[in-house]
Amino acid sequence: MVRPAIGLEVHLHLKTKTKMFCSCALHYGDAPNTHVCPVCLGLPGSLPVANREAVEKGLLLALALGCEIPERTQFHRKNYFYPDLPKNYQISQYDRPIGTGGVLELGEKKIRIRRIHLEEDAGKSLHPEGGEHSLVDLNRAGAPLVELVTEPDIESPEEAREFLRRLQAIARTLGVSDASPEEGKMRADVNVSLRRPDGTLGTKVEIKNLNSFKSVQRALEYEIQRQKKILERGGVVEQATLGFDEKSGKTYLMRTKETESDYRYFPEPDLVPFTISEAWLSELKEEMPELPAERSRRYQEAGVRPYDAEILAYDLELAPFFDAALKTGADPQKLANWLNADVKGYLTQREVTLAETGLTPENLAKLVRLVEAGTITGRVAKEILPEVMQGADPERLVEERGLKAVTDEGAIRALVEKVVAENPQVVEQIKAGKAKAINALLGQVMKATRGTAPPDLVRRLLEEAIGR
Ligand code: ZN
Ligand code: MN
Repeated sequence: MVRPAIGLEVHLHLKTKTKMFCSCALHYGDAPNTHVCPVCLGLPGSLPVANREAVEKGLLLALALGCEIPERTQFHRKNYFYPDLPKNYQISQYDRPIGTGGVLELGEKKIRIRRIHLEEDAGKSLHPEGGEHSLVDLNRAGAPLVELVTEPDIESPEEAREFLRRLQAIARTLGVSDASPEEGKMRADVNVSLRRPDGTLGTKVEIKNLNSFKSVQRALEYEIQRQKKILERGGVVEQATLGFDEKSGKTYLMRTKETESDYRYFPEPDLVPFTISEAWLSELKEEMPELPAERSRRYQEAGVRPYDAEILAYDLELAPFFDAALKTGADPQKLANWLNADVKGYLTQREVTLAETGLTPENLAKLVRLVEAGTITGRVAKEILPEVMQGADPERLVEERGLKAVTDEGAIRALVEKVVAENPQVVEQIKAGKAKAINALLGQVMKATRGTAPPDLVRRLLEEAIGR
């Protein structure tokens, strides 16, 4: 069976006040060409100056991914013609990127990062419908980008999507980028080849400009099938750059790949190479917040199963909430269960964010405690969750509605006997060996107690009453 080998190239917009090489404000949504100057318009004689904030944010990301940071780094010109690239070259980095050789963890699996480098974005071409001309908006020209390239360690479309989701969480945790694909602040190119049974890589095909995590997954799914079919017929996969059509869900040929020499990289003569000192790096390391991977380990040390710890640690909405709930001293795994299953289910179903609900960490902790202490049954807890999500105090709800678990065995036994007497056919079925039929009786008893009877106890009493 051939395994896909997938590599990603991700561009992230750095969250800085000004552009990469000039002092124009980074501001989107304003009137076209209102944040431009001689530098980002590429006018002759203008000189770029590297933005320290952008360099630091790029370095923070490189550090967070465990990259090696070189002592000296440098910018290069990457030459190509593009209507919204006024200089006819992009200032990028070539053989001295700000980081090499990092890792992003997908749980146990590690995806190697080949390199991270800084560069500038191009402007935006607009093609008004029915218009005679195309228009160009250069507000984005010169915006700072960090580009990250992985080794082809990703082995499925789902893994590619998960990689992007985690990278997004890391970038947002660091505050280096909004990393929002919907705003064009996170863009991915993917390359995929099928690994032959002997382990060698097949021909690599690149798919450009995917603007959502979903598209990355879909494009890869399609492309892997396409390559598989070619190989099964005994054909050869051609090296190419493809686009992805969202509507049809298919890839299409954009161009056969340009080689690196087509870009005629050479050192940017207007920017001197610069030194990244140990002192500078240690300052940056001090700024570093707790990263999701560290958070996951902390949760696991607190007794949360790895599966749940990973989900919570990379969910930037649930993680701070979970941290606050942990402080109440409630059971970490039980809190995690509620958040990852029921609370998430509630949010997905109603398409709301956690912040839009009235759920507080204290109330979730109370709910967990009520169940753990046997004060209420799990079923009652699930039933009152929607109200707790709207801000209700679970302890108050339980008091007001008399939802405490029935602990009086005699009362439950009486109810059980009544239900058994009323359902002779079901009892016959059970006696005839249809053990599952007991659930029908269990349901009736639970309903009569509004879910307040402990199900295990009811089941035991039913079995006794039926005489099994
Ligand atoms: Zn400018
Ligand atoms: Mn790039």
